[in-house]
Amino acid sequence: MVDLDTPLTTLLGARAAGLLADGLDLRLVGDLLGHLPRRYHERGELTDLADLVVGETVTVQARVERIERRPMRDRRRSMLKVTVTDGRQSLPLTFFNQTWRERDLRPGTTALFAGKVDEYRGRWQLTNPEVQLLETDADGDDAGQGFANALVPIYPAAAKVPSWTLARCVRLALDSLDPLDDPLPGRLRAQHRLPALADAFRLVHQPASRAEAARGRKRLTWDEALVLQVALARRRREVQAQATTARVAGPDGLLAAFDAALPFPLTAGQREVGAAIAADMARPVPMHRLLQGEVGSGKTVVALRAMLAVVDAGGQAVLLAPTETLAAQHHRSLREMLGDLARPGELGGDPRATGVVLVTGSMGARARREALASLASAAAGLVVGTHALLHEDVVFADLGLIIVDEQHRFGVEQRDALRARGRRPPHLLVMTATPIPRTVAMTVFGDLEVSELTELPAGRAPVSTYVVPAAVRSWTDRMWGRIRDEVAAGRQAYVVCPRIGGEGADDDDPAAAADLADGADARGAHPAATVVEVLPRLAEGELAGLRVESLHGRLAPARRETVMNDFAAGKTDVLVATTVIEVGVNVPNATVMVVLDADRFGVSQLHQLRGRVGRGTAAGWCLLYTAVDEETPAWQRLGAVAATRDGAQLSRLDLEQRREGDVLGAAQSGGRRSLRLLALLRDEDLIRQARVEAVRIVEEDPELTAHPALRRLLDAMLDDTSAAFLEKG
Ligand code: ADP
Ligand code: MG
Repeated sequence: MVDLDTPLTTLLGARAAGLLADGLDLRLVGDLLGHLPRRYHERGELTDLADLVVGETVTVQARVERIERRPMRDRRRSMLKVTVTDGRQSLPLTFFNQTWRERDLRPGTTALFAGKVDEYRGRWQLTNPEVQLLETDADGDDAGQGFANALVPIYPAAAKVPSWTLARCVRLALDSLDPLDDPLPGRLRAQHRLPALADAFRLVHQPASRAEAARGRKRLTWDEALVLQVALARRRREVQAQATTARVAGPDGLLAAFDAALPFPLTAGQREVGAAIAADMARPVPMHRLLQGEVGSGKTVVALRAMLAVVDAGGQAVLLAPTETLAAQHHRSLREMLGDLARPGELGGDPRATGVVLVTGSMGARARREALASLASAAAGLVVGTHALLHEDVVFADLGLIIVDEQHRFGVEQRDALRARGRRPPHLLVMTATPIPRTVAMTVFGDLEVSELTELPAGRAPVSTYVVPAAVRSWTDRMWGRIRDEVAAGRQAYVVCPRIGGEGADDDDPAAAADLADGADARGAHPAATVVEVLPRLAEGELAGLRVESLHGRLAPARRETVMNDFAAGKTDVLVATTVIEVGVNVPNATVMVVLDADRFGVSQLHQLRGRVGRGTAAGWCLLYTAVDEETPAWQRLGAVAATRDGAQLSRLDLEQRREGDVLGAAQSGGRRSLRLLALLRDEDLIRQARVEAVRIVEEDPELTAHPALRRLLDAMLDDTSAAFLEKG
């Protein structure tokens, strides 16, 4: 009886199983069958030897050109020099003490050679490679290991486990496999024309054609997608089973007063999303909604209206921001928007008014005590803050709603910690300005319903974006000239630098550092511009006479606050800053942004940064200054940002350039094997279909009693470290 849970020791014996376990961490038959070929060689097709990389373990298919035995000084030892070729290039192989290979490796013989590429006297070579002859299987003997097939599977191999040994083990497993319980329901398989599990394994491991291999692989991808979506569907079900307090705005409460005083009409999108949120919160089940909104689409108003509805209904609402700068700005702008409604207890004030407090890590002990007291007593209905709000000593009178702004900078754990703060689970709204494809959202954010704000409020001025090559002096002059012109016209500007500079740890933002490491083609070409160094240079040079200030994460919070307030009040003309201004900063009078060494930023990040200009009615400018050459991928990335303002399209591009693991975060890279095949972008269609199927299965049979094999896959996945992100959805 051999199935996926059979230990490899049973199938292969202790020695071979030991090699697989040590070298590749394969222990069960299921592990082995799940170890898929990285690619397939056409039988007889020679590997391009020009592609080899020193230090890599490779499996090459090549033809023996010459063979020669060399004497060695030590008579007990022998050396065999073999030269193999792909028809164009040749590659020397050296065998020590393997004279018997002379018989096999005659000139003209084609074989697979596996080993680590090393360099000897300036030439690549393989020393003592493993060898698999390809021509001895004409009689179908076992040495052929399925080489009767036209395609030779090439496995990710380990030093002591060459690819063909894996092929042999896999063949043994497939030949002795008993019928398998299939995790995919038969109906689903029939409808999507998917092969049964055991057949799928045969197709990927021993395909007769590439089409067959693809068919098998697709089926295995389905398994992953379905299990993931089943987990998410179950999670949504659990959330739906929780009870919380329904929150409905009164007819003549805060929200009504706010709406009546709103200086602009809401966009259709804002109204629609607002209605969806109101409907969610009117149910005694916690809302779990993701609001994706293009930069500048007006998410803050939507958030504030939801918060006011909760306060109307006697609860409190939290707005969480990823940075102190952004929290302080939100606090300021909420109070501004609310006017008298944010000043409770003032003589002649509005009786419906509620307190709006700010809680950040850097605030003084006294201010903090006061803020916390007003939260505990319900004097404050609204609170804005950073993760400092997660402290144990923060007690709410009745927390009804949590809004997380700019999710991509805020960890799921923190969100969870906050959720545990209420007496009953609060409603949750997550907002992000980095729109990601819907299926990715459905997967990464799991249990959240997704809403989108795509339109910008009417009357928004366009933003023109240009790539400015550092090498062309006249362009650079025009770039600074543009800032001077705008300031002369009473407007303001940002100059963004990738680094702070000066002393101390440098990066304001670890994500920026990651982008750097990922994408910067010009890395190391020259050190990136720093705020500390750029500020005096501009103040004395290109921008002499203008009021220039700097803003970055190493300034004291009070100083940051002053700088930001001065800029918002128009007391400063130009702000030289790091990405601290990336999210949320809202100064409509700022019309130009120069991004220095723009190639050091990721696509989505540039789009975010650009969102800081063009927030008023005057036309905006975003100038991406770079020293990289045209034709480089970095330049093309900048060109893409210049060519479109469609955030969804740009985030797609961004995702394509990142590794999948970065999208799922630690979930995938840390996880063992639960998501190996599924690619969020490439498999969008499949994920969508799997989601539909998963919902259907979970509705009919939440415990999956009728689907034992699926249940086992699910449990295995939840055991996996990758469960972390599902749990925290
Ligand atoms: P984001 O979605 O990027 O967070 P904000 O909420 O900061 O955008 O809104 C950007 C600007 O647009 C703010 O100045 C806000 O007051 C303004 N705004 C929001 N909604 C509207 C609207 N319906 N009409 C006009 N201006 C609006
Ligand atoms: Mg915002």
